Amino acid sequence: MVQIISVANQKGGVGKTTTTINLGASIANHGYKVLIVDIDPQGNATSGLGIEKSTVDKDIYNVLIDEIPLSETIHHTEIKNLDAVPATIQLAGAEMELTSMMARETRLKQGIDEVSHEYDFILIDCPPSLGQLSINAFTASDSILIPVQSEYYAMEGLSQLLNTIRLVQKHFNKNLGVEGVLLTMLDARTNLGAEVVKEVQSYFNKKVYKTIIPRITKLAEAPSYGKPITEYAPKSRGSQVYDSLAKEVLKAHGKKL
Ligand code: ADP
Ligand code: MG
Repeated sequence: MVQIISVANQKGGVGKTTTTINLGASIANHGYKVLIVDIDPQGNATSGLGIEKSTVDKDIYNVLIDEIPLSETIHHTEIKNLDAVPATIQLAGAEMELTSMMARETRLKQGIDEVSHEYDFILIDCPPSLGQLSINAFTASDSILIPVQSEYYAMEGLSQLLNTIRLVQKHFNKNLGVEGVLLTMLDARTNLGAEVVKEVQSYFNKKVYKTIIPRITKLAEAPSYGKPITEYAPKSRGSQVYDSLAKEVLKAHGKKL
């Protein structure tokens, strides 16, 4: 059975895209088939996976608005077992266009349903907002993985996110759950980081991954080469920490390592 996971937090710059790309690539390296769906108009996951946006013919916008089959938008990346559906800037218009459309909340789900049997994991990289695009992602998902930056105001906005999850559970997807909470960009040299870690752990308890992602320069460099960390610097600490997260996720779903 496929597990469909939205990587979401309406705050920008908390590590959603970095986590989607590197968790996806690490899971793929374990031999499981992964599809990454980019639904952020910024298309950072798209370029971070080495897909040149100017060459993209059809993207997730055409799935949501024109109802083309999602299979027509799939790119095979250079990484074995890892496919991706790109987003380009035209997706920025979708938020408005969806508002007046029929079945607007379930359009991504309909698109994904066509291909979901071909994958073990589908990861959706969400935009930094809680609008129609995120609602579509949550409606299409089994669970939400929430990256939280180990910084000031880490918890800010999380109650709003949890409320939106509850609304989607109530109206569109009663089985939606929280996959896990991931602490990102921890700066081990500051006390602040440690305090935020404690605060998040005491609030979310067992939902918090044991793996904490430190601030690592190579993780920020990899996207400009269009590569996940597993390709850009396979032996690096960044690659190791995302592999350790991948193992936690695989274990949680009873997958062999
Ligand atoms: P989001 O998708 O939530 O907006 P990103 O994943 O794009 O966040 O991360 C925001 C910025 O921080 C990017 O420039 C990214 O390369 C960088 N970054 C993300 N995670 C780390 C990390 N663990 N260490 C260093 N830089 C990181
Ligand atoms: Mg992003």
